Amino acid sequence: MAPRKLAAGNWKMNGDLAALAEIETLAKNHAGAGCDILICPPAVLIHPAQAVAGGVVAIGGQDCHAKSAGAHTGDIAATQLRDAGATHVILGHSERRADHGETDADVNAKAQAAHAAGLIAVICVGETEAQRDAGETLNVIATQLAGSIPAGATAANTVIAYEPVWAIGTGRTPTNDQIAEVHALMRQKLEGAIADAAGTRLLYGGSVKPSNAAEIFAIADVDGALVGGASLKASDFGAIITAL
Ligand code: PEP
Repeated sequence: MAPRKLAAGNWKMNGDLAALAEIETLAKNHAGAGCDILICPPAVLIHPAQAVAGGVVAIGGQDCHAKSAGAHTGDIAATQLRDAGATHVILGHSERRADHGETDADVNAKAQAAHAAGLIAVICVGETEAQRDAGETLNVIATQLAGSIPAGATAANTVIAYEPVWAIGTGRTPTNDQIAEVHALMRQKLEGAIADAAGTRLLYGGSVKPSNAAEIFAIADVDGALVGGASLKASDFGAIITAL
């Protein structure tokens, strides 16, 4: 069965207490939306965000540690995210892979921790521009999927986001055919790697905005979006939710 679509917002290191009004507005305007809605604010905002999300907007983290506790200054355990009110956590975002040297094995271990804590892991994969130019895109995606998805992954506890690195925050997007090609590959590679591959949500991310959302959502095997910049304002993100 085709999965229920998901509009996910990644606030990255943006937002403050005043910005929670955007989540409150989303909750007010989109109760009964035809898709699930998720906002992943900075970790310090998870608890207050959850309080204004009205059960309409799910709240998630942007990373977690693979261990459940210990001497890991500045890190956050999956159980702590859950305790603060998170239901999801983004893992393996290209900015984490680039800024913190996260490998597929790291992402896999973090996803296991997320699952053990009862969180839905939103696992990100995507090629760099150099990899695309070299014709390596499909190999890169297949390798990242194989390494990052842990045993025990299911359609209920895992979402996959295809985010070409060169499309993030640049205003550039792949062609519809390029998105369709990668999403078809991902669906195929999930067979055997995840329980219920057909029911697993595959998000596209990279410069999704109100003006291109409907076209992207019409592409086969695109079950929603992971949105950065356009998730910061309820007006923009609301238009994307409506397009789903
Ligand atoms: C992202 O950071 O996951 C992202 C897709 O960003 P943007 O929508 O701003 O390109």
